[in-house]
Amino acid sequence: MRRISVLGATGSIGQSTLDLVARHPGRFEIEAVTANADAQGLAALAVRHKARVAVVADPNAYQELADALSGTGIIAAAGGDALAEAAARPADCVVAAIVGAAGLVPTLAAVRQGRRVALANKECLVTAGDLFMREVAAAGTELLPVDSEHSAAFQAIGASAPDAIEQITLTASGGPFRDWNLERLKAATPEQALKHPNWSMGAKITIDSATLMNKGLELIEAFHLFPVSVEQLTCVVHPQSIVHCLVAYRDGSVLAQMSSPDMRTPIALALSWPQRIDAPTERLDLARLGALTFEAPDETRFPALGLARQALEAGGGAPAVLNAANEEAVMAFLDKRIGFLDIAGVVAETLDAAQARGLTGPASALDDILAIDSQARALAETLVERCG
Ligand code: NAD
Ligand code: MG
Repeated sequence: MRRISVLGATGSIGQSTLDLVARHPGRFEIEAVTANADAQGLAALAVRHKARVAVVADPNAYQELADALSGTGIIAAAGGDALAEAAARPADCVVAAIVGAAGLVPTLAAVRQGRRVALANKECLVTAGDLFMREVAAAGTELLPVDSEHSAAFQAIGASAPDAIEQITLTASGGPFRDWNLERLKAATPEQALKHPNWSMGAKITIDSATLMNKGLELIEAFHLFPVSVEQLTCVVHPQSIVHCLVAYRDGSVLAQMSSPDMRTPIALALSWPQRIDAPTERLDLARLGALTFEAPDETRFPALGLARQALEAGGGAPAVLNAANEEAVMAFLDKRIGFLDIAGVVAETLDAAQARGLTGPASALDDILAIDSQARALAETLVERCG
């Protein structure tokens, strides 16, 4: 029996995780579940999955959670410290599925307690990759990727020696605007951007998929997870989302992982590794699919990819600035305060302004990174206001 805690249980990855857990009652049980502010939604999940603890990040949601859980024996708590404590509770695996840099402190709390972490929350590695990986090594724990491309790379790499790998190629669906010209992109609405052709996901990552920033964040994530240099990482647009990653070896061999686009496949692997469990996903029928196609990403229409690569090459605080600016810009776009193309514009300008202020230099302590994150958000907010 593996005890699982789910950070971000009410979200898309959180619910897919709990769906798998419920399908394997003899194998998994739930320790802690957390959410941002949806007390009712969290309480329902906590009861259904017999969690020991339920935590909302927002202290204002505490009373509603406590009322909803009264008489159940499930402990209710709220606030940042309670979130980190829930993450550190005894568990065989902590699924990190909070969205954004908000997940960094609780996920690090799990790592520091030596918990095995199944990582969906890629912003942890984007914001604080060096620190995060140092802490994983110091705690001697395991970090298992949930992001589909990284789960694919993890599988394709297997036990290969680092110097055997020549290149890792992440695939990108291209999102809903793959064929749109700049004029149409300029007028693209949140409703249009939220219609992803292949994946059903939370709002933030769906917008990131439309700008291709998601693939940029994933390049940074892959850099920290796998033994490769920036130059060995690349991406290719593959609209069918069947091949998730390709690992090329020095002898010319290329190993790819394929599965239908359903996050329960990589989540199942992270939960059960080194074993495999059943996942109720659509099975691949290549004859019916007929063709798998690949094309180069267009960085003129989708400049976010290049910005992420630049931030990765610059290192230091630059990726944290990129991430913070992107989170703010995506929220502003969803609120219709800025246009679709302004998202990358705000990120680019925030990176320039942050560099001018010395925010992109070396950053190794958690406090430094959190300070860079909040200063970059303030810079991005002024730039958002200038767009509106
Ligand atoms: P989501 O928006 O559906 O869910 C986010 C979860 O985090 C919710 O439970 C929410 O309550 C919680 N949360 C939000 N803000 C919070 C805060 N400030 N403090 C504490 N909790 C907070 O997001 P999602 O699509 O499930 O994505 C979660 C993470 O997984 C993201 O980092 C995303 O990039 C990554 N990911 C998602 C998918 C996918 O298919 N959805 C695929 C790969 C990677
Ligand atoms: Mg992905």
